[in-house]
Amino acid sequence: MIAPYFYRDNELSVEEVTLADIAEKEDTPCYVYSSAAILSQYRAYDQAFGTAPHQVCFAVKANSNLSILRMLAKAGAGFDIVSGGELFRVLRAGGDPAKVVFSGVGKSREEVEYAITNGIHSFNCESEAELALINSIASRHSVFASVALRVNPNVDAKTHPYISTGLHDHKFGINIDVVKEVYDRAAALQHLRLTGVSCHIGSQLLDTNPLFEALDGVLTLVEKLRAAGHPITELDMGGGLGVAYSDQQTTPSVQTYIKLICEKTANLGLKLMVEPGRSIAAAAGVLVSRVMYRKTTANKEFVIVDAAMNDLIRPSLYQAHHEILPLRQRSLGTITADVVGPVCESGDYFARDRQMANVFPGDYVALMTAGAYGFVQASNYNSRPRACEVLVEGKQWRVIRQRETLEDLVQGE
Ligand SMILES: *Cc1c(COP(=O)(O)O)cnc(C)c1O
Repeated sequence: MIAPYFYRDNELSVEEVTLADIAEKEDTPCYVYSSAAILSQYRAYDQAFGTAPHQVCFAVKANSNLSILRMLAKAGAGFDIVSGGELFRVLRAGGDPAKVVFSGVGKSREEVEYAITNGIHSFNCESEAELALINSIASRHSVFASVALRVNPNVDAKTHPYISTGLHDHKFGINIDVVKEVYDRAAALQHLRLTGVSCHIGSQLLDTNPLFEALDGVLTLVEKLRAAGHPITELDMGGGLGVAYSDQQTTPSVQTYIKLICEKTANLGLKLMVEPGRSIAAAAGVLVSRVMYRKTTANKEFVIVDAAMNDLIRPSLYQAHHEILPLRQRSLGTITADVVGPVCESGDYFARDRQMANVFPGDYVALMTAGAYGFVQASNYNSRPRACEVLVEGKQWRVIRQRETLEDLVQGE
C-alpha cells in the first residue's frame, strides 16, 4: 500500500475518510488530496534544517490549487514560481511575496515587472539577456532586485529525459564553467543584488548522488565567487526528490538529504533554500475514476474508465507508472488488462498489461500518487470538462475546485 492511503474494512481510505463516500457524492473523475500528508511532508523539510537559516519554497507548478497554497502559506512555506500566473495564485492564496523565488528560462517583461512590483524575494536567472531585463525594470522602479544565477552543473540526474535538466545539452541554467564571468560582468548592473547561486538538475530523483555531485560543484563555485569579491549569501538547491510510484521503488529520505546539505554547507554562513514540489504533494493525492466498460479483444483485456489523459497525462507523456487500486476490495481475483480512458488517442492509457484487481462497470478505482503534476497538467482535450478537486482534513472533506461545466468549456469563445 502506498501511504497515506490504506484499506479500512476493505474501503480505500485517507485520514478518517472513505474515498467511496467522496466519489458517490462528488462523482468522478475527481482528485482527492490529504491535507495531513501535504503538511507533514512540508514540515519534514522545514524541520530537517534545524537551526540553519533556510526557506522551503514549494514548487507551485506541482500543484497550484489555491486551498493547497493557502494551507502551505499558513504553515510558513515560501513558493517557487515559474510564471506570472503562479505568482497571481500565490498572492491570491495569501502567500508572502517576500518568500517567493521566480525560476524559469523564459520570463517575460510583464512577468518580471509583476514580480518586482510585488516585492518577491529573488529571481533565479538563467541568461545574461534576462539579467539585463531584470536590471532595467528594477532601475525603472528604483529598487534592487535580488538574483541568483541558475547554474547548470552538467550532472546527469538519471531520471526521465523530459524531467532531467542538469546537463549542458538542456536549455536550463548557465554552464558552471563560464558562470563566474557572468557574475563578474553582472556586477556592473547597478540595480541587481547578485547574492545567490541556484541549481535544479531534474525531477523524480530516486538517487541523491547526482544532487550531491551538483552540490559539490556549486560549493566550489561559491568559494570561487566569494574569493573574487561576490557577496554570495544564499544557496538554492532546487527540488527534485523522487517519490515511490510503486512498492518496488525506494525513495531518498527528506531528512537525510537535507541534513547532508546542512553538513556540507556548515560554517559557510549561507541561507539555504530548496524548491520541492513532487515530494510534498505527489503521494498526498489520488485521481478517483469509475469503471465504465470492460472490453475483450483477440489478445487484450481493456478496462475503460471515465478519467483520461486530459485528466492525468503522466502515463502518456512520461510513460509514468501509477498504481491502480479498487476503492472497495472484493475477493474476485485479478486480471491483466490495459486501463484506458475515453479520449480518442491510442496514447490515452493509464496502464498496459497491468495485473490488477478484477473490477467491473460501476466500480471505482484510484490512480495513486497523483497529487503532483496531475490536475495542473489537465486540459479540456476532447472537450472534456476538468475534474473536481477535494481536500480531506481529518473527518472532513470539501471541494476545493468545482468540476467544470459544459458552459465553462465555451467561456471566452
Ligand atoms: C519543477 C521544478 C521544481 C520542482 O521539482 P520537483 O521535482 O517537483 O521537486 C523546483 N525548481 C525548479 C526550478 C523547477 O523547475
